[in-house]
Amino acid sequence: MVQSPVEFFQTISIKVCSVCGQHMDEQAESYMMECDRCLAQSEE
Ligand SMILES: [Zn+2]
Repeated sequence: MVQSPVEFFQTISIKVCSVCGQHMDEQAESYMMECDRCLAQSEE
């Protein structure tokens, strides 16, 4: 059975990027749903 990494991390209250599913550092206190890498790419 395959579970989405994003769903898994959300279940255990760990912040992950909504785009790539990568774990984001807790220092990101904002409501951003994307990691720095994906945000940088979306700006172009
Ligand atoms: Zn990302």
